[in-house]
Amino acid sequence: MSYALKEIFPTLQGEGAHSGRAAVFARFAGCNLWSGREADRATAACNFCDTDFIGTDGPGGGRWTDAGALGDALLACWTSVVSGSQRGRPYVVFTGGEPMLQLNEALIGACHERGLEVAIETNGTIPVPSSVDWICVSPKPSSELVQTEGDELKLVYPHAVRPESVAGLDFAHFFLQPMDGPEREANTAAAVAYCLAHPQWRLSLQTHKLVGIP
Ligand code: SF4
Repeated sequence: MSYALKEIFPTLQGEGAHSGRAAVFARFAGCNLWSGREADRATAACNFCDTDFIGTDGPGGGRWTDAGALGDALLACWTSVVSGSQRGRPYVVFTGGEPMLQLNEALIGACHERGLEVAIETNGTIPVPSSVDWICVSPKPSSELVQTEGDELKLVYPHAVRPESVAGLDFAHFFLQPMDGPEREANTAAAVAYCLAHPQWRLSLQTHKLVGIP
């Protein structure tokens, strides 16, 4: 098994229940719902993506053939900004693209051996190993949702996947995140109104964009 990552970088988690928490973001290359090429967007199962996940040429990106070596790189990214005397558990967020195309038990184990807490942000089309510490699922239209339980369900709003259709799933937290783009203001107002009327749902803002961090 080899791992292809677009980028690895330290930042603050911008969204959801862990918003504001220091983290290493590890972005895998590739997704099963879009090629990442603009020419394919109109026919893709997921067509509102704003992420570049093609290739391995981003900051800290590359290819690893060994889970331990990648675990070392993730921990090194953490220690590049967090001194050893600081409290707070080292935290890595696997994202993409679709991280479950590549994340496996070997890499999860390598992270745990190095003291890293492991989170994933996935489209939910591939089962996530239970050894992952924090599972965030963002269901997408035109795709079968197989990961129907976890810690956090995050839905872009408004969206072809309606909140009512996933509100009964087994997640601890439910977040609505206004769709970015030219309609962001109206989408935010709609998300606020929905959360007010349906208190199971909380508003998630992309705070990293608000403060200008990656
Ligand atoms: S599933 Fe996620 S990474 Fe893949 S195209 Fe959609 S938003 Fe982008």
